[in-house]
Amino acid sequence: MNHKVFDKKSMMFNLWKYFMLFAFAILAALWLFQIVFLNRFYETMKIREVTKVGDFLRDEFGNKNFENTILNYSQNKGMNIEVIDEEGYLVYPLNWVEVIMNPRVLDEDSFDEFFEGVGKSKRKYRVTLKKFKYLENSTIVYGGYLGKEKGQDHYLLIKTNLEPVDSAVDILKNILLIVLGLSFALSVILSYFFSKRISAPLVKMSKTARKLGGGDYSVDFKEETYTEINDLSNTLNYATNELTKTIEMRKDLIANVSHDLKTPLTVIKSYSEMIRDISGSSEVLRNEHLEIIISESDKLTQFVNDLLDISKIESSLESIKRESVDLEELSKNVIKRFNLDESVLKLETSGNNIIFCDKKRIEQVIYNLISNAVKYTGQDKKIEVKIFEEDDNVVFNCIDNGVGIDSKDIDMIWERFYRIRDNQTRPRVGTGLGLNIVKSILEVHKYEYGVESELGKGSKFYFKAKKV
Ligand code: ADP
Repeated sequence: MNHKVFDKKSMMFNLWKYFMLFAFAILAALWLFQIVFLNRFYETMKIREVTKVGDFLRDEFGNKNFENTILNYSQNKGMNIEVIDEEGYLVYPLNWVEVIMNPRVLDEDSFDEFFEGVGKSKRKYRVTLKKFKYLENSTIVYGGYLGKEKGQDHYLLIKTNLEPVDSAVDILKNILLIVLGLSFALSVILSYFFSKRISAPLVKMSKTARKLGGGDYSVDFKEETYTEINDLSNTLNYATNELTKTIEMRKDLIANVSHDLKTPLTVIKSYSEMIRDISGSSEVLRNEHLEIIISESDKLTQFVNDLLDISKIESSLESIKRESVDLEELSKNVIKRFNLDESVLKLETSGNNIIFCDKKRIEQVIYNLISNAVKYTGQDKKIEVKIFEEDDNVVFNCIDNGVGIDSKDIDMIWERFYRIRDNQTRPRVGTGLGLNIVKSILEVHKYEYGVESELGKGSKFYFKAKKV
């Protein structure tokens, strides 16, 4: 693993990148809502407020306390509220200076601007957003029609400043900039620590894996804090275990194979020598010895074929070709090949036994199961093949009264190269591959399968195939 800080593939750099992206995304969202929309939102709110005040005051016009109400509102709401006549002169003086000066609040142009279209039989008010020369901020101007008094039209003029929102936005902008800087710094620090924490167990694991690669199969991938990494370490432990098993089995196989090859070869050699030196001239003896040589050669051929078969079958297992197959018919054909008396190998069937499977492969399964039964059954040979319907399935049973299998071995017999080594009760034949082939084939077919057995009493191998 590379620990350069700016290795673009490093966990730290990527974490930092994502932290930054995350911070930017949040800030962008904040910026959008706080700065772009806040301005508009605030403006809308303010306009709504001014309009509400304006509408209320228009209703109040003509009431006795109208002047006081205006005064109250202008103070409480921080708005500049005036009542002017149609020429723009202040009508309700708000303080004594104004009484004396009687100022003209609006000149003609401004009046037209703020009260355009507003009047008795026209619209009741309009709101204008105005930027006055002498003020820094924009102003909301509400121009409303009040009514006639003393023969003159009266108008309501409300002005309020938009300043607060601008300064708030400025403050927010500064805060967001500071947050941006902080999140940048924080993401550098956090990504450094997070990546350290997350990658530490991975670094440890890769060291262990390297040891494993170097041939040390005693390694142990330790439990780690994170579930995912924990899973990985469990998987690696499992793989190590399997690897160790395979290696052991391969060692076993080489030992077995050499032994199994040597035994018949020794027999062949010694009988050949015997024919040369002793029995060559006696026809009866010679033939007897030649028969032994032939039978041992057959065994050798069978053995080598088995070895060749396994690799062929394994490599073509993915492409199974299913068709409708009569399991009874198929079993009959296989049984014929064993050439055994019916009292030894018996077939019992009932019902309809059509299944949808790869014919060649299932034939191989049946052959391997029966051949094991034949191999591991004692003198009083009795093998029964039963085929029958059960619910939605067709069940195949191969039952023998042979040596049986010890419960400690029963889970292992399906493993590749696994053979029970017990020379007293078992013939030293086979490669330990037969049941593994059975297992592989039944698993691609997704058939339920298994074995029930008792040592010394016999075994029942079975599989269940879906009926067509
Ligand atoms: P092998 O080529 O040695 O028969 P298999 O994979 O077919 O290999 O079987 C694995 C082991 O399971 C065998 O070594 C044998 O001891 C045991 N076994 C298989 N079938 C039977 C059976 N019908 N009765 C007793 N033992 C059996």
